[in-house]
Amino acid sequence: MQPLIAGNWKMNGVASQLHEIEAVAASVKATLPSTEVLICLPATLITRAVQTAAGRIAIGGEDCSAEISGPFTGDFSSEMLKDAGACAVIVGHSDRRQHHGETDAVVAAKAKAARRAGLLAIICIGETNAQRLAGNALSICGDQIAGSVPKEMTASDAVIGYEPLWAIGSGQMPTSEQIIEMHAHIRACLTQCFGAEGQKVRILYGGSVKPSNAHSILALPQVDGVLVGGASLKSEDFLAICRAAPALNSPTVNSQKEQ
Ligand code: PEP
Repeated sequence: MQPLIAGNWKMNGVASQLHEIEAVAASVKATLPSTEVLICLPATLITRAVQTAAGRIAIGGEDCSAEISGPFTGDFSSEMLKDAGACAVIVGHSDRRQHHGETDAVVAAKAKAARRAGLLAIICIGETNAQRLAGNALSICGDQIAGSVPKEMTASDAVIGYEPLWAIGSGQMPTSEQIIEMHAHIRACLTQCFGAEGQKVRILYGGSVKPSNAHSILALPQVDGVLVGGASLKSEDFLAICRAAPALNSPTVNSQKEQ
């Protein structure tokens, strides 16, 4: 599978930081032309980032409403993100699940909305530390897959982001064995729910991915890419992670990429 290296700037970034996008785009174009690179940004930056990236990397959003339009002050529909130039959107990030009370059903509705607009949905799941310590990590993530991934999803419009909450922004990492076990479990759940299509859906690892650990994570055959928070804000760090990806030749998310 073509690995996907995705960044998530979270609630960071103003126009003066667009030079980081330019640096990533220029280097990907020059040295990593077949690596699939996506940076998900606050909605306020999407159009300018798309202009800056000029098709050399893909740009996405960080969340969308399940609705198309209407009295939902402050929300953005997937169609609006698409209109702004995004080609992907994160849904169900733990920040949204934790701070905005998003349930699996809400996440599934948002993933469906992403598909409706023609955006790749990066559907995030992951267990808390307490759930892992109680021995429930696999069942929690299995339930999140069953509840958050819409039945009509295909491998070309969905990617799973496995992000253990205790690893996000903490510098703590699961062991390789724990990542392998979880990704194999997610693959089994996807196959159970979606049959052959479930075999093709990419499963990204996210949580404290850095230049120093990217190689060992991306070398795991069960890992189809990474979702990078803090280290995606600095082009130098993010590029080092992009360089750790084994490159193949069939990009899917970079529909914006130059032909
Ligand atoms: C994230 O917020 O999606 C994330 C993975 O963050 P970090 O890489 O900073 O742990």
